[in-house]
Amino acid sequence: MIRGWTVRQAIVFCRLSASGTTDDKGQSPVALQKYDLLADMTRIAVLTSGGDAPGINAAIRAVVRTGVDRGWEVYGINHGYAGLIAGDFRPMGPRDAGEIMQRGGTILGSARCPEFCTEAGRKKAIESMASRGVEGLVVIGGNGSQTGSHALAEMGFPVVGVASTIDNDLYGSDITIGVDTALNIALEAIDRLKITASSHHRGFLVETMGRNCGYLALMAGIAGGAEAIVIPEYEMEPEGVAEVIHSAYERGKPHAIVVVAEGAHYNAERLGRYFQEHRDRLGFDLRVTALGYVQRGGAPTYADRMLGTRLGAAAVEELAAGRCGVLVGMRKNERATTPLGEVVSSKKPLDENLLRLAGVLAK
Ligand code: ADP
Repeated sequence: MIRGWTVRQAIVFCRLSASGTTDDKGQSPVALQKYDLLADMTRIAVLTSGGDAPGINAAIRAVVRTGVDRGWEVYGINHGYAGLIAGDFRPMGPRDAGEIMQRGGTILGSARCPEFCTEAGRKKAIESMASRGVEGLVVIGGNGSQTGSHALAEMGFPVVGVASTIDNDLYGSDITIGVDTALNIALEAIDRLKITASSHHRGFLVETMGRNCGYLALMAGIAGGAEAIVIPEYEMEPEGVAEVIHSAYERGKPHAIVVVAEGAHYNAERLGRYFQEHRDRLGFDLRVTALGYVQRGGAPTYADRMLGTRLGAAAVEELAAGRCGVLVGMRKNERATTPLGEVVSSKKPLDENLLRLAGVLAK
């Protein structure tokens, strides 16, 4: 039971308040009406789930300190939804959120939790929060995690999601926590490889993370000046890549950098093998560097610290205003909220024009 509320009231409220997209200035009439009802919220919890991303700690810090500033008690939950079910909570004050903003990863830990995908698991999680008097939850995470937070909101618990994933594949936020740091790490690697590539007239394949989303590869490829970019949204056959490289050499380029998304059918391993097997015919092969988890572990950049800070603080404001069942993210450089139902049922499109631009700029 939520303090001062019946679960039924909470369910009705979550459904009503999540019925339309609002920005931070555009409170819906329903949210305004219900504002006073949630004014007595006094205890919230925050968890991090799924893949870690640099900037998450800044978001945790912001949730804790803005929550405490409102006079609330804030609990951190260890190891994501697994800790939520197991009751692994720790009270957090402003000092517990100190010296963490500059650290990558998540101080709360993260875990995969199949049990949370079941209704029985989520009931345990709600009981676990209710027994500690926790009245609202902030979930910091990507697609899977927000599917979980949506399921929890559907069961009536006041939840706000914070958009965090280096893959940038989450609908509802143009940019998510961790993307900027991951891109800067990729760029550092590309810049270094380019020096060696130019010295030895060699070609290099650089594989970025991103699961089935080509965003990281596309942006790193453009900003890193790659000759070719291979992403799952617009696949390229190995012979097409070879043609691009040949043409670059013919135009007098001393190097060739190909950026490949890990989710592409011809990922770095497959492309690398293909070029090795056809080396005699093609006249060259490509050296493979897979950035992998190196891309996730960096100290957060200024942009990720600010994004984590803004979104963490925004999540607390949303809970306070009773606009639960939503994701907080950024759209057109403004803070924006999107109903979790819309977030989990929509696919974020990739800007085709950027891929065309990448081709032009590689001339
Ligand atoms: P990310 O948030 O980085 O996309 P995952 O896909 O690994 O991470 O999901 C993180 C966790 O979210 C899962 O371990 C699970 O506990 C929860 N989750 C994922 N899908 C669902 C679902 N359909 N229903 C409920 N919980 C889910």
